[in-house]
Amino acid sequence: MDHYFNRRKRHPGLKVRGICIAGLLVLASWAGNAIAEFEQVAPDLYFNYDHGGSNSAILITEEGVLVVDTRMHPDDAELLLAEIRTHTDAPIKYVINSQFHGDHYMGNKVFAREGATFIAHTDTKAVILERFEYEVNSRPFASRGQDSSEVELVLPDILFNTQLNLTLGGRTIELLYIGAGQNEGDTLVHFPHARAMHSGGVFHNRSWANTSYTPSFDGWVNVLTAMQDIDVDTYLPPHGPLATKKDLEAFTQFIAKLNSSVKSAVTAGTPLAEMLQNLTFDEYSEWRGYDRRERNLTAMHELMTTGEAQYFVPNERAAPIPSQ
Ligand SMILES: [Zn+2]
Repeated sequence: MDHYFNRRKRHPGLKVRGICIAGLLVLASWAGNAIAEFEQVAPDLYFNYDHGGSNSAILITEEGVLVVDTRMHPDDAELLLAEIRTHTDAPIKYVINSQFHGDHYMGNKVFAREGATFIAHTDTKAVILERFEYEVNSRPFASRGQDSSEVELVLPDILFNTQLNLTLGGRTIELLYIGAGQNEGDTLVHFPHARAMHSGGVFHNRSWANTSYTPSFDGWVNVLTAMQDIDVDTYLPPHGPLATKKDLEAFTQFIAKLNSSVKSAVTAGTPLAEMLQNLTFDEYSEWRGYDRRERNLTAMHELMTTGEAQYFVPNERAAPIPSQ
């Protein structure tokens, strides 16, 4: 566990930090990309930011702990649990699996061992069941120094469809489903007392979401727009750093621009290869996952041409899942 990099804040001085990160990246490559930062968002709310993997939210109360998303592998989950244990001995009461992508739930068994109750959207469970084997076989565990056989299927104990309110330590936590973003079942986890929200698969901050899975880009833009009416200051995204309303607006514009650009190309009958050449989106080249641009645009082109999201395609035809 001593290779786990824990920092509350990410701004201790650029130069020094750069040197530290360079050294730690060596350790991280040896330790399975386990590098992460544990940031405090509110007195009782934390954000586990993992640039190379996926993020989690953690609410710590005297009555117990609530965790949103359990990272990609049990090893990652063990590191997260160890970090939580430096803050509290309270029981892990709830785990929310906010989406069906394996990099967000395949650490589940660690928290099952702790006795947590698992909650997810009905569609999330359905796709986890459909995709579990493929997820386990497709993730880059070997390059992370991790053993895929350690991943176990842990399904939700409680399902919801539209809204579910939990109470823990006197706080109310709202699980909301207002429509599919990146995925059907994308769950927003609202912490009203902290004016904060974990944004499920709907909103990735400064990050190219995986567009192979959404059933509708119009729908995704609508969900992002509706999110702006929910009164919060801080978003804890599944990928990318902590975010503000301004970041949400930027991501909404990004998805809207992808949507309108690909739609125009499809309407004009532009061949896929030509569209990929034209739509370079240079203004988003600094965002995480820009290297997936062609794959994402191809998926969008396929959805808008055939009406079918790529994840409904039989597994043998699906491309390998990237690390987010
Ligand atoms: Zn992901």
